Formats: sequence, C-alpha cells, structure tokens
Amino acid sequence: MKAEILSVGTELLLGDILNTNAQYISRELANFGINVYYQTVVGDNPERLKNAYNFALNRADIVITTGGLGPTKDDLTKEIAAEYFNKKLVLDNKSLQEIITFFKKINREISENNKKQAYFPEGSIIIENNNGTAPGCIIEENNKIAILLPGPPKEMIPMLNETVIPYLKKFHEGTLVSKVLRITGIGESSVDNLIGHIIDNQTNPTVAPYAKDNEVILRLTAKTNNEEEAYRIIEPVERQIRNKLGDINVYGVENQTIEGVVAKLLIENKLTISTAESCTGGLLAGQLINYPGISSAFLEGAVTYSNKAKINRLKVKEDTLIKFGAVSSECAAEMAEGIAKESGTNIGVSTTGIAGPDGGTDEKPVGLVYVGIYINGIVKTKKLNLVGNRQKIRDRAVAYTLDWIRRELIKYLKEGNN
Ligand code: AMP
Ligand code: MG
Repeated sequence: MKAEILSVGTELLLGDILNTNAQYISRELANFGINVYYQTVVGDNPERLKNAYNFALNRADIVITTGGLGPTKDDLTKEIAAEYFNKKLVLDNKSLQEIITFFKKINREISENNKKQAYFPEGSIIIENNNGTAPGCIIEENNKIAILLPGPPKEMIPMLNETVIPYLKKFHEGTLVSKVLRITGIGESSVDNLIGHIIDNQTNPTVAPYAKDNEVILRLTAKTNNEEEAYRIIEPVERQIRNKLGDINVYGVENQTIEGVVAKLLIENKLTISTAESCTGGLLAGQLINYPGISSAFLEGAVTYSNKAKINRLKVKEDTLIKFGAVSSECAAEMAEGIAKESGTNIGVSTTGIAGPDGGTDEKPVGLVYVGIYINGIVKTKKLNLVGNRQKIRDRAVAYTLDWIRRELIKYLKEGNN
C-alpha cells in the first residue's frame, strides 16, 4: 500500500508552525509497514487544495489529510473530499450530539458554524474526536482510502492511534513486528560500512537505519503470521548485526534512553554518582535526572564554572590550574575525583572544555573538551574534539560522557578496577 500525507493549512506554508503531524504520521505508518511516498503541504485555498487532493489520490492508495476540518469558511477538506468522490455532505446525528455535549462541557455557546463539523461525505466512517470538536472520517471508494484528520496534534494523535491504525490492520495479511536497536560510538557511515550488505539483502525482517542526534537507530521489521514467529526470525539477524557492530556499541533497544541505561546499571549495582560540570553547565546532571528513580544513585551535581569554584568545591589544586589550565586532562581528573570524594559517591564525573564561539586558541580550540570519570579509586580522562555551535558542543559533550560512563561501568562491573 502506498500512502501520501497531505497537510492542509496556510500557517504551515507561512512557516508559522512546524509540520509535526506529517512527521508523526509518517513514523507511525513506517512502524506499521506502510510506505509513505509523498508528504505534501497546501494552503487553505480551494483550487490548490483540490489539485493537491487529485494528485495525491491518483498516485497513492491511502491519503491522510490533516487540518481544514474546523468550523470556519477556510476549512475545506471535507468539502473537497466530498467533491472528489462525488458524494453529498450529510449530517451525522451522533457527531452533532457529541459536539453539543463538548460545548456544554467547556461552558461555551455553540455557534451555527460548529454544526458544520457534524457533516460528512455520505457513507464515511466517522472517527470520534474526544479532545476537540472536529471529528474525522474515512472514505473508502474505488480501492482508494481517504482519511481526514483535524490539525491540532493533541486531537489528531489519539484519533490516529485509537481509530486509524486499528482500521488499517484489516489491510494487513499477517503480523508486523518491529524491534529497534540503538547504537552509539559509531556513526551512520561506519554502520553502513559494517552492515550495509545486511541492510541491502535482508528482506524479512527488513533492516532500516536512520541517524538521530548522537545515535544511529536500526529498525528490524518482520512480517509473519504471528508475533512469536516474528521474534524468531528477528533474533538471528539481530545477533548478526550485534556481532558486526560490536555488542557494546548497541546501548539499548526499543525506547530505552542512554541515561536510562546508565541509571539502571548504577541502581542495580548499588553504585552512587555525582557530577562536576564546567562547560556543560548542569546539562549532564539534568539528563541523568530525566530518569525517574535515579534518586537512589545520583547524589549531587555541581556546576563549577570558575576556577575558584573548582578549587573551593572540588579541591582542584591551584597549581594544576596554573600549570595546565582549567581545560586540561589534569583538571578533569581532579574535578572527577574531587566531586566523588566531596559528595561521598562511588563515581564522580567531570566535564571541562571550550564551548565557544570565543575563547579558542591554536593549542586549545573551540570544541576541545576533557571529561573525567572516577570509579572507586581509579580516575580516567578523555580528550574530545567536538564540532558545532555552543549548544551542539555542549549537547555532544553530554551525549559522549553518558555513553562513556556506560562503557566504563560495564568494564568496571566485569573486571573491577584492575
Ligand atoms: P485546522 O484543523 O486546520 O483548523 O488546524 C488547527 C490547528 O492545528 C492549527 O492552527 C495548528 O496549530 C495545528 N496544526 C494544523 N496542521 C498542523 C500540522 N501539520 N502539524 C502540526 N500542527 C498543525
Ligand atoms: Mg487550518
């Protein structure tokens, strides 16, 4: 089945809002094994909307529109769809009652306009909207399916998940099961070099890579008769991929996060951690604290931006700062050890670097970051050369550090400090 997403709204063309609906729907359909071949955006203009609608329904089997279901005159999607399929707009009494109830609930007078939202192309399947006044609808005709959804994401998303996806299931033979592998430490092109032949030749499960900030994601999708069989055919391909990429580089699966993986390692092994940050200014602590339940492992995060703070709070030696500077391996080491000892944790982690845009020198350019980790008596540092603007450098330093904590913890738990 080929699908197209047609996003309707002049505000999208003006750049006032981002087309998050198209992204959301595309991702859900991809998960589901339906190929989206085009995403189109068109304004609230009857002629152009009509053209875009004709185009879309000529080249796709399923067209999902978002927007243009509102009560005003420039909301036209239903009218255009009715015209395309040569159908009348007819009143759906149940929808009208629900719209009336919705207005009572929010204590507002219903206007004549709002009643327009209860009219649908004759014979449509109505999609209830529990979060707003515009129900959606599905039209099936001549082997084409048109699905009309409202624009506001908080209305569109539940309607897609609760009604549209279950509806589309009937066009599926068999079951689709996906498994996501999350990879750090090797970039997209290296992943492609290592497993390109698997990605190209694998048909069931299929293997689809995509790069996100600081990680590469592989989605393995199996099409079988049942879930059990799907996992059975995913398993050997997953094993092959892990072998090629190195198991340690696959940090997690499905919706796991890097901070979640680190937090679990800490909590399960009753280890405590503290952080001392300079250039990342609390971002590292912030991301660790994203994980609920981290309170038993994370004791303290210090933002020690000045030399004075590094000396007073972390007991970094003044000598070290004079001799090597704050952005140095020596300083990162003393910061990590200092915060661990000062806060009484097993592990201390530090960051110190030059996030830019100013302040770089030939010897210490913008993007130079040292990170340190202290684990029960042993301290290690790493030198990073990061690229990007100030925010990117800080984000990348945090992503790198979290992954490095994970790797060092796994090593420590396996081998101890010897
Ligand atoms: P509409 O259903 O066309 O009246 O859209 C109502 C509101 O939904 C708009 O003002 C936007 O705030 C939001 N919206 C519409 N289309 C999109 C889209 N493609 N992505 C994200 N938000 C949208
Ligand atoms: Mg609109």
